[in-house]
Amino acid sequence: MKEIDEELLKFYRLSEKEHRIFFEYSYSADDISMFKYRDSRRELIDEADPLNVLKPMIMNSVIATPAGDNSIDFFKAYNLNGTDHYVRGIIISEEDGTPVKMFGTVSTRKSDSTPDLTRTSKIDAMTGLYSREYALSLTHKAIESHHYKKVSLILIDIDNFKSINEAYGTMFGDEVIRRLSIILRDAAYGRGFAARFGGDEFFLCIYNLDDEDALRAVLSTIVYHYKTAFSEKDFKFTLSQGISEYPRNSEDFSVLMKKAERALQKAKFKGQDRFIIYKEELHGELPESEMEDSAIPLDDMRLRDAQGNFMKKALPELVSIARSTGLIPERIGGIMKECITAFRLNGISVYTGRDLTCAYRFGDYSKPLDNVSYMNNPKVWDCFSNDRVYSGQVRGMKQHYIESFHGDIAAHNLEFSMHVVTGTFEDIKVVVTFDREKYLGSNSAFENQSLTILGRMLAELLS
Ligand code: GH3
Ligand code: MG
Repeated sequence: MKEIDEELLKFYRLSEKEHRIFFEYSYSADDISMFKYRDSRRELIDEADPLNVLKPMIMNSVIATPAGDNSIDFFKAYNLNGTDHYVRGIIISEEDGTPVKMFGTVSTRKSDSTPDLTRTSKIDAMTGLYSREYALSLTHKAIESHHYKKVSLILIDIDNFKSINEAYGTMFGDEVIRRLSIILRDAAYGRGFAARFGGDEFFLCIYNLDDEDALRAVLSTIVYHYKTAFSEKDFKFTLSQGISEYPRNSEDFSVLMKKAERALQKAKFKGQDRFIIYKEELHGELPESEMEDSAIPLDDMRLRDAQGNFMKKALPELVSIARSTGLIPERIGGIMKECITAFRLNGISVYTGRDLTCAYRFGDYSKPLDNVSYMNNPKVWDCFSNDRVYSGQVRGMKQHYIESFHGDIAAHNLEFSMHVVTGTFEDIKVVVTFDREKYLGSNSAFENQSLTILGRMLAELLS
């Protein structure tokens, strides 16, 4: 426990320098004391917590107890009667993980939220959960220490988070992230910890669950709370989770992470809204090469290769056709067919003219759109990114979204449709759509970029 003195000193200094309240909590006595440091002297402040709000605030900030490590940081922001409070501290434990002492500071100044970079980098500022880096190092230690008979690694990704942002705005998206963070923190409380890996990706590390039923109970509880958190909204809030477990799946930290990643990818691939617990007999051993350098599942890698190869070949072909005199749409039919296969589409359509009626169509649609005149509605235009692309699903957002846009697409049996537009709002030249009747998850950045380039080329060729 040699860290204690060093850590204490840091917090003393912080308290002195920034006039923060310093707190110290003893686990054995269940006693909390609060001080202020002035001129290196400790001043007990009885009046610090007249309403008895600080103690619960501090205790609620604890998101984990130390594990396989002898200290653990925490940070949480509260808003109390309009004032922001920042609780920041550390828990020190015995070698066997029994917590001994917790101490830290409470401050009310906004500028204090980033007092010390080494500490903040361990914490995700928006949620107070651990950062990816810190969580991975703690998990690594927990596994290598062989201190636990079991460690469950749970990767969590919000389904269709982009659509949540699109439908309700990013402020609401942020709220979803914060709400899920609290759910995850509660799920890990006393038996592990929660982390935000970035964006809409989270992680839980849970120790010593008895068996698979206990694990399933944790996962289902998370899903239940998340699904019901925004029940007033007409949108399906779902999560995908991928789980691996030490030592059942491996005793090696990086293999365990890859297996959890692969399980998560499978959950997404199979249509989201589920958890997949990695099982060698179902999901296979990871091939050597994959263990070394890639966490992308093989299926995805093949897909990506096919798409990459297609792009390499298609672009020169399209350019050469464009250069040769008199472009005939039939001549690009073969290339479009390959595109449809590589990108798992049902079809590609090109709309032109004042009413944006369909000028060319490739592939198989069960119920194609005659026109995309809804593009002339400024509200629809708002859904598009700055580079005039809309890449999104249609499922699940019929009511609160733009009926004449999403509703119309959905009514034509499409669950996903990526629109690439050329021209300006007042003067749309061409709309190219890449359509799927089955929703296979959001496009990857690579897919979006590739299809955007193709869309622009097609517009150029066929207008
Ligand atoms: P999938 O169902 O396949 O997981 O796709 P998805 O829609 O959830 O989207 P994806 O994981 O590909 O992208 C996540 C998006 O989350 C991208 C980014 O615009 C958005 N995002 C990332 N960080 C934040 C954030 O802090 N707040 C908000 N509101 N949005 C964020
Ligand atoms: Mg997501």
